[in-house]
Amino acid sequence: MIPVSRPYIGRRERRAVNKVLRSGMLAQGPEVEKFENEFSEQLVNGAFSIAVNSGTSALHLSMLALGISAGDEVIVPSFTFAATANSVVLTGATPIFADINLKTFCIDPDSVKKLIGPRTKAVIAVHLYGQSCDMTSLSLLCKANGLYLIEDAAQAHGAKWLNKPVGTWGTVGCFSFYPTKNMTSGEGGMITTFDSNLADLLRLLRNQGQKKRYHNEVIGLNNRMTDIHAALGRVQLSRLSRWNDQRREIAATYSDQLVNVQTPYIAEEAFHVFHQYTIKISEMERNLFAEELKKSGILTGVYYPIPVHKLPSYNKNIELPNTAEIALQCLSLPIFPTLRKKEIEKVIRVVNGISLEKR
Ligand SMILES: *Cc1c(COP(=O)(O)O)cnc(C)c1O
Repeated sequence: MIPVSRPYIGRRERRAVNKVLRSGMLAQGPEVEKFENEFSEQLVNGAFSIAVNSGTSALHLSMLALGISAGDEVIVPSFTFAATANSVVLTGATPIFADINLKTFCIDPDSVKKLIGPRTKAVIAVHLYGQSCDMTSLSLLCKANGLYLIEDAAQAHGAKWLNKPVGTWGTVGCFSFYPTKNMTSGEGGMITTFDSNLADLLRLLRNQGQKKRYHNEVIGLNNRMTDIHAALGRVQLSRLSRWNDQRREIAATYSDQLVNVQTPYIAEEAFHVFHQYTIKISEMERNLFAEELKKSGILTGVYYPIPVHKLPSYNKNIELPNTAEIALQCLSLPIFPTLRKKEIEKVIRVVNGISLEKR
């Protein structure tokens, strides 16, 4: 079976983790600090980087640090992983769901604009599937309305908009290192910001509100990353740029050779890192495609079948037509750096076989 994604853990990762295990110092320590410094330099133009235990924690702590709380509203896309909206709810604030752009599947600035009201405090831009949102429009919009711009870059390590990395456009950037993302630390997350006061507060919040042990200054959580995870993350970070190039090459091959399916649109300003390669096909054909591919040993994914506002945990009675359409028509094909040439050719052959046969 060819999976949709396949994390790679090599000898260097094992050696790095073993070294930490042998040291006996497992919790947040020198590896976390090195990981943060390398992430700052390599991915976000020197912004402060604060490592935490998940992408969800990154989002949650960012909003706590910005003072977002009960009575506030945060505009989010509904076509995303639930964690984006959940982290808003966990601060006490209310997520307000915006629609997406039909081409990029990212949050639509025009939809955001219509939802801004007196209680709005922030907008979360989710760089879906590895493609940056329209950061030109979102930055202007947030600036004009005095809103924080939070980037959910969980799927977009290394992506850029106008040659400027994601995670450097907003007030804060939030990354995830879950195993299926473009790089992993097992579990983990990173918050990026150029605001040094915010960075200090984030460091307090992830560690029980204390800088000096037993001198807790604010109410915080334990959202620390361990040195075990950081050691793994550091090795993966060193591979990221080559891996992103490989993802982009596979995507280019697919887009060049797939017929009769709508291949991903790439905005001119975007440097897309293809966390997912997602085609759009009619609702009726999607199941047939997925079944036929599975019979041939190729797995596919639907990210996400139910828009967040329609999940039982939200169940909001609002209409987001573009979100509804894409949730029914998106289908992600296998894409990961270790996908072999033969496997790529097989995906293309099978997809084209189905799409030609039907007509
Ligand atoms: C993975 C993901 C998250 C959450 O990250 P975790 O590390 O799993 O907590 C948040 N937002 C998006 C868009 C994601 O893909």
